[in-house]
Amino acid sequence: MTAKSLAIYEEIVGRVAISQLKQIADDIEGARVVHVNSTKAGGGVAEILHWLIPLMNDLGLKASWEIVEGHDEYFNVTKSFHNGLQGNHVVLTPSMIEVYEQTVGKNADRLRPVLEEADFVFVHDPQPAYLLKLCPNRKGKWIWRCHIDVSHPYRKVWSYLKGLVSGFDASIFSMPHFAQSLPHAQFIIAPSIDPLSEKNCDIPQKEISATLKKFGISPELPVLTQVSRFDRFKDPVGVIEAFSLLNHAVEAQLVLAGGGATDDPEGEAVYREVVDAAQGNDRIFVLQLPSDAHRTINALQRASSIVIQKSLQEGFGLTVTEAMWKGKPVIGGNVGGIRLQVHNHHTGYLVDSPEGAALRMRELLRQPEKMLRIGQTAKQFVRENFLLTRHLREYLTLMAGFRHGLENDLIRV
Ligand code: UDP
Repeated sequence: MTAKSLAIYEEIVGRVAISQLKQIADDIEGARVVHVNSTKAGGGVAEILHWLIPLMNDLGLKASWEIVEGHDEYFNVTKSFHNGLQGNHVVLTPSMIEVYEQTVGKNADRLRPVLEEADFVFVHDPQPAYLLKLCPNRKGKWIWRCHIDVSHPYRKVWSYLKGLVSGFDASIFSMPHFAQSLPHAQFIIAPSIDPLSEKNCDIPQKEISATLKKFGISPELPVLTQVSRFDRFKDPVGVIEAFSLLNHAVEAQLVLAGGGATDDPEGEAVYREVVDAAQGNDRIFVLQLPSDAHRTINALQRASSIVIQKSLQEGFGLTVTEAMWKGKPVIGGNVGGIRLQVHNHHTGYLVDSPEGAALRMRELLRQPEKMLRIGQTAKQFVRENFLLTRHLREYLTLMAGFRHGLENDLIRV
């Protein structure tokens, strides 16, 4: 992907929004900013970092992106953290913690010089969180950016992680509901999408048609789509159940499109569960896509009448924003960050069960004018709230706040 400059967003967000970003960025010009996560491909965090780093650089900061590397054993442990933080009861043994700390330790040996020199380090999610303890001579502010729903974490996992993140200077959560008892400032920043990325830019109708053809999806019948990593929290099997409940009351097709993320070891097993659940229904298309299939996903979302995101837990759900930006009504799980985006009857529907999802699928498929109206409201809502310029502004403001002694102010409050 080639680095983009901010100017090209003017036509979407307006000149003033860009000028405002430059104004805030001037205040922290030259700041060395390092983002750390655990994968360059797959999942929402990588999706965001791909545009965030170049745009921060375009604004005069010195931004870079590092990843912690590890083997399967490490990613099994961090997936357990992830599952535990989202409320599952998981096993966490001392030897698992040892694997985690040793792996991050090896990464620290490589990353320490750049991390300790940085003015701001944003550590995304739990995978790299232990790095802080391994950089005792850090000069800058360290911020833990949590992308997942930690509103009801499994205590054992949270108490270990809390011991790591308490040392940070601040945390960022996607919504107030996720904030935790921590001894530092907590900021609420919702994620966003890049409207000009391959995933979200306008594409010609013939490319959309060709994509349907490639997968044998009929252009004659409505398409319902869920795009997600094959992860149980995304409930792909529940989506199949909902679709099956339609029971030909309305004719439609279901697409479940997803791939893996290099830091998610459960993808293959969940994919097999989904294929099993879909067996025997030739109106269901389970597509395993490579991590760079952005235009394919773009085309599938655009070809859809309705986009589904029936998650059981969700930090935010970029796929929801992506669909709304394409003018699609979304039927989403009534959880986490999906609630920030899907407002019942206005931008889509929130559902609590496969039965609820089936009901809304049927209702929308029978009322094309309603799909259109909801889709238009959804697009406008994204324009006002979930595009990258708003997101960037909040990051810049946070850093500027630190530069002007945010901590002292907080202590006085
Ligand atoms: N995505 C993708 N390929 C896939 C599955 C997902 O490119 O096979 C993208 C999707 O379009 C979205 C991001 O990965 O941009 C997923 O972000 P989200 O916040 O929805 O969920 P996460 O995977 O981070 O839990």
